[in-house]
Amino acid sequence: MIDPATGTDALLDLLVVDGRIEERRPPGTRGERGTTPSGTRVIEARGLVVCPGFVDMHVHLREPGQEHKETIETGTRAAAAGGFTSVACMPNTEPVNDGLAVTEYVVTEARRRGVVNVFPIGCVSKGGRGDELAEIGDMVRSGAVAVSDDGHPVKSSYLMRMALEYTKIFDIPVIDHCEDRSLTADGVMHEGYVSTVLGLEGMPAAAEEIAVGSDLAIAAMTQGRLHLAHLSTRGSLEKVRRAKADGLRVTCEVTPHHLLLTADAVMESDYDPNTKMNPPLRTEEDRRALLEGLRDGTIDVIATDHAPHHADEKLQEFDDAPFGIVGLETAIPLLLDRLVRPGILDLPRLVTLLSVNPARVLGIKKGSLAIGEDADITILDPDLKRAVDVAAFRSKSRNTPFHGWMLQGWPVATVVGGRLVHEVQAAGRP
Ligand SMILES: [Zn+2]
Repeated sequence: MIDPATGTDALLDLLVVDGRIEERRPPGTRGERGTTPSGTRVIEARGLVVCPGFVDMHVHLREPGQEHKETIETGTRAAAAGGFTSVACMPNTEPVNDGLAVTEYVVTEARRRGVVNVFPIGCVSKGGRGDELAEIGDMVRSGAVAVSDDGHPVKSSYLMRMALEYTKIFDIPVIDHCEDRSLTADGVMHEGYVSTVLGLEGMPAAAEEIAVGSDLAIAAMTQGRLHLAHLSTRGSLEKVRRAKADGLRVTCEVTPHHLLLTADAVMESDYDPNTKMNPPLRTEEDRRALLEGLRDGTIDVIATDHAPHHADEKLQEFDDAPFGIVGLETAIPLLLDRLVRPGILDLPRLVTLLSVNPARVLGIKKGSLAIGEDADITILDPDLKRAVDVAAFRSKSRNTPFHGWMLQGWPVATVVGGRLVHEVQAAGRP
């Protein structure tokens, strides 16, 4: 069991009763309840790693309005299959989640058809249009855990100021997608050598870094809680590192694809639209800076930015295809195989980035296997080796550049509130 919240990295048995962690004890010992209560379902996890359930704080579930891409049901099934027990869903649906009605719809639908916990994120602004604040209080009372205009940046410094001031009442973060749209304009990939060679419009690193700098200045002025989504450049991280040293209440996240791929992927894949995302894949120097940020604590969270699109939408020319890739069902094996196995990141740190920290940022009582906590559990098999296969995805969409990648280390069981919601029956495993 690896449970960073309690500093645990040990061989332990876990007893779950009524959806909560009831007991933790060394194998073979008798706990307070004596032997295991009769009728208890036993999950044999010898050789596996038991972690607090993973929390993906940046997911697009597309419902309401774009159910051909994803629904709350299929998106949460994808989450369970990918080892996530909780997701926070972005408000850029149709209609956008800018008030009570859509927040309540998401909460209700998640309770009816969802298989993992769903925490809605409300819009910062009415209609996501960036003009005036949305009904933030209503949304928080109905279950929203953060606000964001993701898909777009918060439109103006004035609105960001209002949002950071106002959300202090609720102690929720304002999540921003950092992009100066006047600089990215019609860009479709990172602006640099590769975009020049390919003749594609570029999105310069400065477009992200200008927005990060502006947000941080407003966070310093307001002392509000700021969370920066999917950071992708060395310069962005340097600004966040300095802001944290200055004591600002800022946190940030990165995605698995920015940790593993660079703009070269656009060229090597011969303009595969599944290498088109926003922010775009950057340079090797940026990628290395992100890895350093994971290690030194500048980066708090790994989140997928799961962005399902229908095959017909993605199967366009690179210039015309929508931005974004799915991530829920590939994130964990990618991180285990490419970062943990080579020793770039240790497992307790990865669990912290995937569970403890996103729960803390969202202010939800998750991310710990301490006694009395919700029994949200992710079980990993560090030895299981298999290829990413989009045909096996639970998600409605298949837009990923990782199809066919052979990866070692997969989530094999997902428990939400004491209920086994996903299990992999692997040959050779009990
Ligand atoms: Zn975004």
